Amino acid sequence: MRAVRRFTVHAHIPDQLAGLTALATNLRWTWHPPTRDLFASMDDTLFRRIRDPLRMLTEMPAARLEELARDEAFLERTREAVDGLHRYLTEPRWYQRLAADHDRVPSAVAYFSMEFGVHEALPNYSGGLGVLAGDHLKAASDLGVPIIGVGPLYRAGYFRQSLSLDGWQVEHYPVIDPDGLPLEPVTEDSGQPALVSVAMPGGRELHAQLWKASVGRAVLLLLDTDVEGNDDDLRRITDRLYGGDADHRIRQEILAGIGGMRAVRRYCELTGHPQPEVFHTNEGHAGFLGLERANEILGSDGLGFDEALSAVRAGTVFTTHTPVPAGIDRFPADLVEHYFGDGALLPHVDPRRVLALGAEDNPGMFNMAHMGLRLAQRANGVSALHGRVSRRMFAGLWPGFDVDEVPVRSVTNGVHGPTWVAREMTALLGGNDEEWGHEGEGDGTRIAADVTDEQLWALRRELRSNLVGEVRRCAREAWLQRGASALELGWTEQIFDPDVLTVGFARRVPTYKRLTLMLRDPERLRALLLDEHRPIQIVVAGKSHPADEGGKALIQQIVRFIDDDPEVRRRIVFLPDYGMQMARYLYRGCDVWLNTPMRPLEACGTSGMKAALNGCLNLSIRDGWWDEFYDGSNGWAIPTADGVTDPLQRDDLEAAALYDLLGQQIAPLFYDRDSHGVPKGWISRVWHTLRTLGSSVQASRMVREYVESYYLPAAATVAEATADGYAGSRAFHDYRTRLEEAWPRVRVVDTELVADGVETLVVGGDVRVRAQVDLAGLDAADVEVEAVVGRVGDTDDLADGVHVAMEPAERGVFEAGLRLPHAGALGYTVRVLPRHRLLASPAELGKVIVA
Ligand SMILES: *Cc1c(COP(=O)(O)O)cnc(C)c1O
Repeated sequence: MRAVRRFTVHAHIPDQLAGLTALATNLRWTWHPPTRDLFASMDDTLFRRIRDPLRMLTEMPAARLEELARDEAFLERTREAVDGLHRYLTEPRWYQRLAADHDRVPSAVAYFSMEFGVHEALPNYSGGLGVLAGDHLKAASDLGVPIIGVGPLYRAGYFRQSLSLDGWQVEHYPVIDPDGLPLEPVTEDSGQPALVSVAMPGGRELHAQLWKASVGRAVLLLLDTDVEGNDDDLRRITDRLYGGDADHRIRQEILAGIGGMRAVRRYCELTGHPQPEVFHTNEGHAGFLGLERANEILGSDGLGFDEALSAVRAGTVFTTHTPVPAGIDRFPADLVEHYFGDGALLPHVDPRRVLALGAEDNPGMFNMAHMGLRLAQRANGVSALHGRVSRRMFAGLWPGFDVDEVPVRSVTNGVHGPTWVAREMTALLGGNDEEWGHEGEGDGTRIAADVTDEQLWALRRELRSNLVGEVRRCAREAWLQRGASALELGWTEQIFDPDVLTVGFARRVPTYKRLTLMLRDPERLRALLLDEHRPIQIVVAGKSHPADEGGKALIQQIVRFIDDDPEVRRRIVFLPDYGMQMARYLYRGCDVWLNTPMRPLEACGTSGMKAALNGCLNLSIRDGWWDEFYDGSNGWAIPTADGVTDPLQRDDLEAAALYDLLGQQIAPLFYDRDSHGVPKGWISRVWHTLRTLGSSVQASRMVREYVESYYLPAAATVAEATADGYAGSRAFHDYRTRLEEAWPRVRVVDTELVADGVETLVVGGDVRVRAQVDLAGLDAADVEVEAVVGRVGDTDDLADGVHVAMEPAERGVFEAGLRLPHAGALGYTVRVLPRHRLLASPAELGKVIVA
């Protein structure tokens, strides 16, 4: 029988235990072990099974609750925990100290993302992007940054993965009832659920109910369209993550961006939370938020679109996550026209302006990344390498500029230490410091000084051993699901070994991640696994996008390799349903974290960072974060066959290098023991990893970088643009109008290099560059005139250029002194760029005149 309707009955919690509800409702428990201990002490078995304090309270027998309500010691511990949470939520932290030193910090920041991975108890994520968003909120909370996350609430989240008997991925979508999640409805003053609406074509309205998750000090607002009053097709907009066609996706993105913006506004109005001044778009999907902000400004302040745009741009930060054009979110332009064309969705914004913002080379397509860049004054990639790749990828939007001047910078991702580091490791390294690593200051110098190699090695073994237990449990469960009977599964108790070198490989399965690279030569892999003296064991996990048959075939290939050989299956396993819970065991328990993407297609990668914080060594292609952090002693770099164009040959070369490293360097180092059984060489690499990466891969380092280099400057520009009734925006618009008008006639008339009284030029010598510039009516203060000196080769292209600002001398002449930077063949040029206080980069307007 199926239920016609679902509903949730809340538990009755005795008054004395009210504090528990507060503790269970704030997701800080997910990274605060003492709070988890408190709940575990109520019923350890139940807690282990459910892993969600709020649901646990619902399922706990009333008699046990009554008993606890009379247990003075328990009540005292609860009060302490509640006080601790209260302190965490209210005390001044890093951001409050920062605010004391700055005139102006943003009152709040809104962070838009299509997914948020905070914990498996709130399954609203598919993988890396969502987990990053969750880690961003948690680190912001620890730092005291006032942040509101916003995104859709999916009724079925991402899929749960299992395997068929022949190793094919099977997807399930368990229905999620928001009432059973760690969420609270946002309510109007009347007590009714708060809703926001956006217009759909044909005069329809889409309503979304707002839910709130508390992530420490951070607010996470989630929008749910499965509400009464929506037409059936509209109710299904938030059915699942990354399911459906382009129409389904654009509806989700309209909801996330425009609905999300309205949700943030409404939430702040209802609760008195400060309205955000800075808006962060985590990947292009949520980019429509900038249009809604333009709509707000146009509706209330009598500005023109371009004037409003400069205010919107000032306050928007855009983070791109893909290094390939194929990864960019795009829509057919007529689909965008369909939703925006009748003007109902954004009454104050001309639909033609919307279409222009997403324009790309292909006139039939609307490009969300291009719109993201046009709506955000500050943009970044997610590792140094990805920054470079992104500048090349988007260089077409800034014609006339060198690739390295393209105004897309980078902030390397980080991970939330308190979420990902085993508590035993924190205890060992951090001594008594409960908040170790919270502010990204858990650097080498703060690692407790007296920890011995033996202690660290013993802990590594314990974590590996936990993983082995989990591997056996999951393997057995997976086989039961595949239809095996319990009687034939005795062997799963024998697989894996807590003393064998353990390699982990877990990630989504798009082709570029090359799940099966390790299978390139099955015999070599087999030999490594079954080596008599130095065996290796490998845990593999990962989900393939449901529509990606190729990815599913890769999974099947691995699974068959394992299934077909009873020897091999002792040492390699594929665990279905990779998610945050499994991830924690893997990152903590593996000795080596393997990553074999096709360079440079991994924008950053964060799983290796989580592993490193637990003392696991990375073995990876030098891509994403590893390109910047590999230092020769903190793991291994698999050489990339970058120049090789035949992908099969490239795979062969890189796989051979991988086997060589594993067999000739990694296994020997791991099994080389001293008289106490400790692998000294190995442990010294683990120490080095913990010391050098301990603070730099933390999400708190990442969030501080966003605050200092993006949010603060953005807030300052917003203030400048919006003060006195948008005087700054209006002045900027006037400036741009004058610039547009004059620019075609601006030119560098003449230049000369003067070396006063010197016969021969010597490196380090002083010269002057003079240029006569026709400004076509612009003021000298309206432009930056710049001399560039650099090396020249066969072509006259300048390399390693040094840029020097030139000062106006007499009328129309600009001049600069500079020191010759290099010996050899040099060249120079002079160029003219726009200059205005509201520009974040001289390249921003894509305008440059070169001599
Ligand atoms: C960290 C994490 C990821 C991202 O890992 P990558 O290295 O970027 O592939 C994916 N899924 C889960 C569950 C994670 O915790």
